[in-house]
Amino acid sequence: MKVELNIEEKANWLSSKTPFIISGPCSVESEEQVLTTAKDLANNNQINALRGGIWKPRTRPNSFEGVGEVGLLWLKNAGLAVGLPVATEVAKAEHVEACLKAGIDMLWVGARTAVNPFSVQEIADALKGVDIPVFVKNPVTPDLNLWIGALERINAAGISKLGAIHRGFTSHNKNGYRNAPMWELPIDLKIQCPSLPIICDPSHISGSRELIAKISQKAMDLEMDGLMIESHYNPDEAKSDVAQQITPNNLNNILNQLQIRRSDIDNKEFTNNLERLRAIIDEIDEDIVNQFSNRMEMVEKIGEYKRDNDVVILQLERWEHILKTRTELADKVGLSADYIKKILDIIHQESIRIQTKVMNK
Ligand code: PEP
Ligand code: MN
Repeated sequence: MKVELNIEEKANWLSSKTPFIISGPCSVESEEQVLTTAKDLANNNQINALRGGIWKPRTRPNSFEGVGEVGLLWLKNAGLAVGLPVATEVAKAEHVEACLKAGIDMLWVGARTAVNPFSVQEIADALKGVDIPVFVKNPVTPDLNLWIGALERINAAGISKLGAIHRGFTSHNKNGYRNAPMWELPIDLKIQCPSLPIICDPSHISGSRELIAKISQKAMDLEMDGLMIESHYNPDEAKSDVAQQITPNNLNNILNQLQIRRSDIDNKEFTNNLERLRAIIDEIDEDIVNQFSNRMEMVEKIGEYKRDNDVVILQLERWEHILKTRTELADKVGLSADYIKKILDIIHQESIRIQTKVMNK
C-alpha cells in the first residue's frame, strides 16, 4: 500500500550528490563550541548542513537541557561563517516560531516528539505557509504508522521538502545498540513512501563512537539518502551524548571510507547472471510455500484427531522436541538457530490458530 505524500523531487532540495551529510554537535553549548566545530567540519568540505540541538528533550531531569533560544543565533552565525545551512530540533510551536525568526534553514521533529500526534500537529500548524525542509525522526516506539502519521501531518501543513530520519527504536533487545535499528521499519517506510528521502542517524542508533562507521555503511547499502552524525570539536567534554559524539576529523575518516555502491548496473552479463540466480530463488520460494501448505494440511488432520480424542492443542513436550531437532539441523546446515527459531515460532502460532478453529467446529 502506497501513502500519498506531496513531496518535492529530492534532487531539487536535498542534494544531487548523495549522501546528504548533516553533522554538528548534539547540543549547541556555547558560541565558541559551535563555531569551532563548524570550522573543523567545513575544512573537510564533506558536509551539507550543520546541526545543533537548542532545546534538548532529556530522558531524566537535571541533565543539560540545552542553552535555549540564545543558541539559535550562535548556530546561525556559525553556519553563515562557514557557508552551511543550519538545522535544529523543534518540539513545540514556539520553537518553530523562534527558529523561523532566527533564520534557521532546516528543522527536524525529534523521536520523543514524533510519538505524540498532538505535539506533531501543533508543530505542523506553526509551519503553515512556510517553505523549508523538515525531517521527522522515527518515534521511539517501533510503530511505522505513527511515523507515517507524523510525516502526513507535516506534509498536510504544506511542507513539501519533507524527509524522514531513522534513529532506531527503544527496545529490550538492544544487542549492543543504544536504540535498536530494526532496519525493516525504514525499509517498509521506503516501500510505502517511495519518493520520501530517508536519512540515517547512526549516532543515536549506536550510542557509541565505535559503531558509527558500521551503521553508516549499512545505511548506504540500503540506499538511504544521507546521514546525520553528531560531532564536537572536543567530544569528551560534550554536555550531552558524550559517548557517541566524534571529532570532525574522525567524521572525515568515516566518510572517506564509506563505500557507495550502485543501485543498478547496465551490464548484460551481470543482468543475465542475476536473472538466472533469481529464477532459482523463485523456484525455491514456490517449494517453500507449497511445503507450508502441505504442513498445514497435516496440522489440520492432527487437529481433527485431537478433537475427536478430546486432547488439548498445545503439547509442550512435542513443541520442545520440534524446536530442539530443527535448530540442531539448522546448525548442521549452516543456518543460525535463532533465525530458524523465529520462523518456527510463526509457524507454530499459525498451527495453533488453525487447530483452535478445527476444535471449535
Ligand atoms: C538529537 O538529535 O540530538 C536527539 C535528541 O535525537 P533523538 O530525537 O533521535 O533522540
Ligand atoms: Mn544527541
